[in-house]
Amino acid sequence: MLKFYNTLNHKTEEFKPIKANEVGLYTCGPTVYNFAHIGNLRTYIFEDILRRALVFAGFKVKHVMNMTDVGHLSGDQDFAEDKMEKEGGSAAEIMALAKKFTRAFLEDSNTLNILQADIIAPATEHIPEQVDLIKILLEKGFAYETELAIYFDVPKFPNYSRLSGQKIEDKKVGARSDVVIDPNKKHPADFALWFKLAGRYKNHILRWESPWGLGFPGWHIECSAMSRKYLGQPFDIHTGGVDHITIHHSNEIAQSEAAFGVPLANYWLHGEHLVVNEGRMGKSEGNFITLSTLIEKGINPLAFRYLVLTSHYRSKLNFTWDSLQAAQNALNNLYEEISSFDKAEGSADQFESVFRDAINDDLNTPQALAVVWDHH
Ligand SMILES: [Zn+2]
Repeated sequence: MLKFYNTLNHKTEEFKPIKANEVGLYTCGPTVYNFAHIGNLRTYIFEDILRRALVFAGFKVKHVMNMTDVGHLSGDQDFAEDKMEKEGGSAAEIMALAKKFTRAFLEDSNTLNILQADIIAPATEHIPEQVDLIKILLEKGFAYETELAIYFDVPKFPNYSRLSGQKIEDKKVGARSDVVIDPNKKHPADFALWFKLAGRYKNHILRWESPWGLGFPGWHIECSAMSRKYLGQPFDIHTGGVDHITIHHSNEIAQSEAAFGVPLANYWLHGEHLVVNEGRMGKSEGNFITLSTLIEKGINPLAFRYLVLTSHYRSKLNFTWDSLQAAQNALNNLYEEISSFDKAEGSADQFESVFRDAINDDLNTPQALAVVWDHH
């Protein structure tokens, strides 16, 4: 029996797909304005294990991943800086940057033995789908327009707190002095579906026609529009990092369910953070580690994958160079063990069943690795 911890219901549940043999899987992809750091990559390794576990359990998987190449703001507040436009440049230059970092992301994935999604969907190639969805939300009274933007009206959607367990009263207006707050936004939890070329975004480079004039989509609407297009609604499994729960995924659920009156996805799985020396990783902290950093230090990239598998995806993983070195040694030993492995020894069936139990138990990779080590 395959079971997962479902964030939506806050408990571990047996996995029951919508169709008998095929599973629809949507994983939130990167914002392609920079290289992925190893914390991001941990999430994609967890999702790869999930996909492989589904295949191992006999399902065919249709895997969709978005690439955010517009509208992801550098803070959670509306009217922060668009990550893609930070470096400036023409529309062509911004899109070239997006293509470059998309390629880099796919190369990193490949190096880490992560299977590529069946459909990779850039937000900028799905603007009409996003506009259509916003139109429905306006028609149904779940959205409203100001001079600066179209917002989702969060208090109108009673299920908003289901995923996060966080009351909407706890959401505060962004207090940063450089952030222009729209005086006509009704509730601090309301979030932008579409930005107009006005106020701070008067000169936003990437812009499209819409019923509300030229503008660009908010970050969250792309996932609602593209998951529905490729997987239907509801679909089976939606994943991301734990940092997506309170805002991005809660917003996706609000948009999709308000528009169509059915659930967005039945199972929500979230991977925990990787921390470096017990602290957060980021550029400002001076510990932004990419896969290239590891390779330059002579580390086998798959040793990083091995390290990720040694902790459960719902536990924080504390990254240290010592732990990575230990993972590399373990992996080398494992390669040696396997090369001298005698197939005639022991019962393969028994081994497989113990291994299957471990991986089917909410992707218990530490246990599955232990099974691999025990069996020789
Ligand atoms: Zn998403």
